[in-house]
Amino acid sequence: MMKLAEACERIACTTKKLEKVRFVAEYLKSRTPEEAAVSAVFLSGRPFPVREEATLQVGGRVLWRIVAELSGKSEAELTAAYRQRGDLGAVAGDVLPEPPRDGDLSVLHVENKFREIVAARGPAAKAARARELLSKATPLEAKYIVKIVTGDLRIGLKESLVEEAISKAFGGTLAEVQRSNMLLGDIGETLKMAVANKLGDAKMRLFHPLGFMLASPAESAEQALSYFQNALVEDKYDGIRAQAHCSGGEVRIFSRTRDEITESFPELPDVLTGLPEDAILDGEIVAWSSDGREDPPEGGSESKVAQPSSAAVVGASRPHAVGRAAGRALPFSALQQRLGRKQVSEKLMQQVPVAYMVFDVLYAEGELLLERTLLERERILDALLGAPRKSRVVPRIASGAQTRFEFGDDVSASNTRVIRAPVFHVSTPQELDHLFEAAQARGNEGLMIKDPESAYTPGRRGKSWLKLKRELATLDVVVTAVEYGHGKRIGVLSDYTFAVRDGGKLVNIGKAYSGLTDIEIARMTKWFLEHTIEDQGLRLIVEPKIVLEVAFNNMMRSDRHESGYALRFPRIVRLRPDKLPQDADTIERANEIYEKQGK
Ligand code: AMP
Repeated sequence: MMKLAEACERIACTTKKLEKVRFVAEYLKSRTPEEAAVSAVFLSGRPFPVREEATLQVGGRVLWRIVAELSGKSEAELTAAYRQRGDLGAVAGDVLPEPPRDGDLSVLHVENKFREIVAARGPAAKAARARELLSKATPLEAKYIVKIVTGDLRIGLKESLVEEAISKAFGGTLAEVQRSNMLLGDIGETLKMAVANKLGDAKMRLFHPLGFMLASPAESAEQALSYFQNALVEDKYDGIRAQAHCSGGEVRIFSRTRDEITESFPELPDVLTGLPEDAILDGEIVAWSSDGREDPPEGGSESKVAQPSSAAVVGASRPHAVGRAAGRALPFSALQQRLGRKQVSEKLMQQVPVAYMVFDVLYAEGELLLERTLLERERILDALLGAPRKSRVVPRIASGAQTRFEFGDDVSASNTRVIRAPVFHVSTPQELDHLFEAAQARGNEGLMIKDPESAYTPGRRGKSWLKLKRELATLDVVVTAVEYGHGKRIGVLSDYTFAVRDGGKLVNIGKAYSGLTDIEIARMTKWFLEHTIEDQGLRLIVEPKIVLEVAFNNMMRSDRHESGYALRFPRIVRLRPDKLPQDADTIERANEIYEKQGK
């Protein structure tokens, strides 16, 4: 472990990527394959490979207490050290004493201890094992053990650089290493395959989440179509992103944070087990309102309906008919009651029905499809979901029914669980504008505009997928501090200070009184109290983990916050439990909004 920690120190000291890769490669080569494999996982900032769902469940607060106990430092001393370092691992490295020990603490030993922590039952037992591990580590080793446990090394090393280092150290092209890591979901195993010169043998292993392809914001229909002339366009649904792995009778669903969420949506696996072949699907889970069988809407507003002539919906568009199942996605707030639950009652499933709007396929026909064009993937998805089973359905956008989706005569309202997201082909800004209005009329956030020729690039935010949302700017920010409210909010933490990302750090940009519901505030108060880093009396500095979406009217230059900006009329649109702090918006994005507003 000492050698790994020393390598990490060297890696942290340089900002040059190539040098970082060289240091990682040198370190990995100096170890046995077993040790190098475990180290590759640790260097990616995690205790276990991606494909394993094991979690340590040892949080910052617990580690803080252990560091306090082992160092004998007072709360005030530790707080002062933390404020200086901004990282509990670094604090541990500064304050922990040298342990009495004979012999080395190897990375294999540390990995073993991690597994013991996972197996230990209850927080106290887990904390005791974590304490035992840290008590045997030197301060430098402890520094990196704490960083691995908290999931962030903060040495400017991403998994992609570890992949480069493996290719450099053991041969195999970078593309082969990346491919194997993606297929296996295990960078340690990938390393061993590189050592054995067997990278080509890696076979897709389902049930570990692949990275999600992300979208960049587009400011207008014209700007969106400046990137590609012909576009595939879908509604932008306001729910949670979900990747479904389906094989044989087994189905597992993963969130954008790569957590398994199958248990929260027990109605989906039943439908997905019926797929004709193994597949990985990408889509959005939304709260769904089935209108059931309805009469046609009154007023005959057909002429206003956004129906560009070239808009091809999967499944031919048919005139509206009485007695057809219809439905629409509900706003995110409706879905919230369904999130984060381990057990979902029948009653809740009926109260808040969900639908999985599927818009992409990453694996089918025994092959990873990421390099295929979107157009090809769409065709494969159509074939996969078009299988004659009523519960996987393709809605039609019928004229006169713009506030909802309609389904074929063979679909009953209760069958709309897994739905093929309708796709439009668009080539002019006017068509896009029409679709935007129609999507909003259906209660959706806006549009996703996609390049038909693009590959699926996991984890990357490129210009192949664009999102066109409501005009008002919003930022995804991280809560850094919270304060007790006033009036009816006295006793609850309802005022949040939040930050955007600036390189490796967070810079505060604004403060908002919560726009959340009382129940959410109560829940967040509990969370913040459990994740307080520093208690300043009325103000608590909290672990920067909670992502919010904030809207505001405009931005001003100001010294009030570190970012150099302040927001006018900031309001919290919603919590973003589907996003990690590293997904929050950056200062560059704030600059862009500021400049655009100036124009
Ligand atoms: P944002 O969360 O604002 O960055 O927007 C991107 C997110 O929109 C994705 O991660 C999905 O969760 C969601 N989304 C909704 N509808 C779609 C769609 N049709 N295609 C892709 N992503 C979608």
